[in-house]
Formats: sequence, structure tokens, C-alpha cells
Amino acid sequence: MATAAVLTDQIRTIDPEEERAFMDAIDRWLEREVIPVIQHHDHGDIWPEKLVDQMAEMGLFGATIGQEYGGLGLPATTYAKIVMRISSYWMAITGIFNSHLIMAAAVERFGTPQQKAKWLPKLASGELRGGLALTEPNAGTDLQAIRSVAVRDGDDYVINGTKTWISNAVNGHCFAMLVKTNPDADPRYKGMSLFIADKRDGLTTGKKFDKLGYKAIDSAELVMDDYRIPADQLIGGEEGQGFFQATGGLELGRINVAARGVGLAEGALRLATEYSQQRETMGKPIAQHQAIQLKLGEMVTRARAARLLTLDASEAYDLGERCDKEAGIAKYFASEAAVENSQEAMRIYGGYSYSKEYDIERYYRDSMLMCIGEGTNEMQRMIIAKQHLKENKI
Ligand SMILES: Cc1cc2nc3c(=O)[nH]c(=O)nc-3n(C[C@H](O)[C@H](O)[C@H](O)COP(=O)(O)OP(=O)(O)OC[C@H]3O[C@@H](n4cnc5c(N)ncnc54)[C@H](O)[C@@H]3O)c2cc1C
Repeated sequence: MATAAVLTDQIRTIDPEEERAFMDAIDRWLEREVIPVIQHHDHGDIWPEKLVDQMAEMGLFGATIGQEYGGLGLPATTYAKIVMRISSYWMAITGIFNSHLIMAAAVERFGTPQQKAKWLPKLASGELRGGLALTEPNAGTDLQAIRSVAVRDGDDYVINGTKTWISNAVNGHCFAMLVKTNPDADPRYKGMSLFIADKRDGLTTGKKFDKLGYKAIDSAELVMDDYRIPADQLIGGEEGQGFFQATGGLELGRINVAARGVGLAEGALRLATEYSQQRETMGKPIAQHQAIQLKLGEMVTRARAARLLTLDASEAYDLGERCDKEAGIAKYFASEAAVENSQEAMRIYGGYSYSKEYDIERYYRDSMLMCIGEGTNEMQRMIIAKQHLKENKI
């Protein structure tokens, strides 16, 4: 897809006509290629290879990567709208390019000029697909407790440890991997570094998870056993920056999860709206019963509020403003909206919600992940409150 995204004084914008054309192309792809095969991939937990190739052709693997590296250089706002639209039909498929783009953002923001020139064009074209390898069996929320260690050995680093729950671990090619380069550092974050970890001897895919939802996307362990990589794959070239680099990327990550939540909330609303006008009880469509209208009214409001909060955070991101609070608010609200709307839609579908013949059960299974990934909603509320208190100190 061609794009007229432009970078003005580091602020990304896009011509509204271009954005509309882009969204139309996404709609056509969803209608023709994606919607007909969702159940096949979701029910069978089958990785959607053909759709991945099409996503690469459309430029989605380079959506937020700068045009100088072959990406589309889209603003976060347009990116969020794309993720919302796709997620309103099938959230899981966005996971294939989303964690990839968060990895790319870490390279683009913090990498050396040589790292950017070497990795970003291949990531933008989709020739290489990436992911984010932070979580370990003993450390998810408490990232500073990770145990994987990289030891310098001449021109290389040798890494040992295990990562878990890594999206794209089976089908991806490279990962932004957070490890300790100084396990004794105090404070702990000063001993952490982020590497571009590409698949080669010593890095293998371990157990693949059989999940409740988020099907067709591979979530698995990565095992590093005397895994040796060149020192020039340390992002930015300086040890001790990894915690900051990894959590710096989470702003875009949170906007992304918020956008997925919006999509799920809007999709569940769409299905409930259709079904409630078709299903009749007591001689009229259930949409005519006040009890169902109360649900629909709440669902419409939640979906709208989630959308506006997510666009608010992405606009701040595009302007280069600090937006951890805004991204946290959007992520928290939109993910809860996804869960609540899909649950309410289940109730509106009644017994049929429990049949895999209908799509609504997938929204119910997929939505809960949004409350866990990119920082749990418990942590989001604490981050929001801390930032709020800092801004309103008496
Ligand atoms: C499908 C899926 C895909 C994923 N993909 C990736 C990926 O691509 N890359 C990656 O690195 N990770 C990935 N993850 C991991 C995910 O980021 C973690 O599961 C998440 O960060 C939570 O960590 P945890 O599971 O270890 O929970 P824990 O950290 O053990 O938390 C358990 C509970 O305790 C609460 N809690 C923890 N600490 C505190 C505190 N200080 N105060 C208050 N409450 C607290 C949490 O909110 C939560 O409710 C994925 C997970 C899933 C399920």
C-alpha cells in the first residue's frame, strides 16, 4: 500500500484521504480473505500463513517503521485505527504484527545507526518477523526479577536462560530479548540489557501453550542454551539500558492493546446488535425488550469511550508527548470494555452464545488476555494513580 504519511519536525501525520483509502483496503481484505477463514484458524489453532503473506504485502509489518527504512511510517493514531478495525473481526491476528512492531520500535528508537540499517528494512518488509521476549517463568510483572544472563566473551555474548509466553516464538525469526548483563547490579534495572536475538544455534523454541483463546497465534517458550550472538546485537551498544528500552516500548504496546480492546468491544456490540434484532421472544425482537436495551446502551457507551481514550493516547504519542498515563488509562478502560461487552453479548445471545457455531464465544475467550498483556490492569491502575498523585502534589 502506498502512503502519504509524513514526518514533520518528528511529528507523524497522514492526509485524511490517504488514511481513508488505507482503511478501505483493510476492509476489503477483511471481507474477502479474513472473515471467511477465522473459524477454521481459531477452532483448529492453525497459524494463518496465507494471511501473514498478505499482511506483508499490505505493508502491515512496517506500519509504524519509518519510511527511510522501507516502512509506511504511519502515525500511532492511524495504526490504532487499523488495529481496532481488524480486531473487531479477529483480534488474535493482530498479535502477529503488533509484537513485531514493538520490537521494531525498540530498534528504531534506541538502536545504533548500523543496527537500524541492518534490521529495520527486513522487519518492515516482513522478511523477518519479530517479537518481544521479556517474560520468564518466575517474572512477568516484576521484570527486574528475570534470571536470563548474557556474559561477554570476546566479540560475542553468550546467553543462558528461559523466556516464556512469547508471542510469535514458533514462527518468528528474531526477538527483542531482555536479559541481565550484571545480575548483581543495585538497583536491579541497571544490570539489564536488551538484545536483538535471532534464531540460530543455542536458541530453541520450547513448550507451546495450549490456550483458552488468542488461538492460531503461537505462544511458546524460548530456551537459550549457550546461545552465542555478536556483541553488535546489543540494542544501542551500551549495557544497562535494557529495562528503560523495554519499558519505553510499552507506551506503543499499551496503545496497541487498547486498540485491540476497542476492536473487541465494538465487534461484540456489532454481533449483539444484529442478533438482538433477529431473535424474537414474546412476539417481538429481543432488542425491543428494555432489559436488552439497557445492555446495548451500556455497550455502545463503553465502546465509544474506549475508542476516544485510545485516540487521545495515540495523538499524544504522535506529538512526542509523554503519554504513559494516557496509554495506561486507554489500555485499562478499553480492555475492561472488551471483557464487559463480550460478556454482555454472551448474555444477549442466550444459549446460542455457548455454541462454537457463533462467533461471540471467541470474543469472550479472547478479551480476557487484554487485561493481562502489556502490564496487568492491576498495575495499570497503580501507574495511573502514581502519575496522577505526582501531578497533583499538595
Ligand atoms: C497469550 C499471552 C501472550 C503473551 N505474550 C507475551 C510476549 O509476547 N512477550 C512477553 O514478554 N510476555 C508475553 N506474555 C506474558 C505477559 O506479559 C505476562 O503474563 C504478564 O506481564 C503478567 O505476568 P505474570 O503472568 O507473570 O503474572 P504475575 O506477575 O505473576 O502477576 C500475577 C497477579 O499479581 C498481580 N501483581 C503482581 N505484582 C503486583 C504488584 N506489585 N502489586 C499489585 N499486584 C501485583 C498481577 O496484577 C496479577 O494479577 C503473554 C502472556 C499471554 C497470556
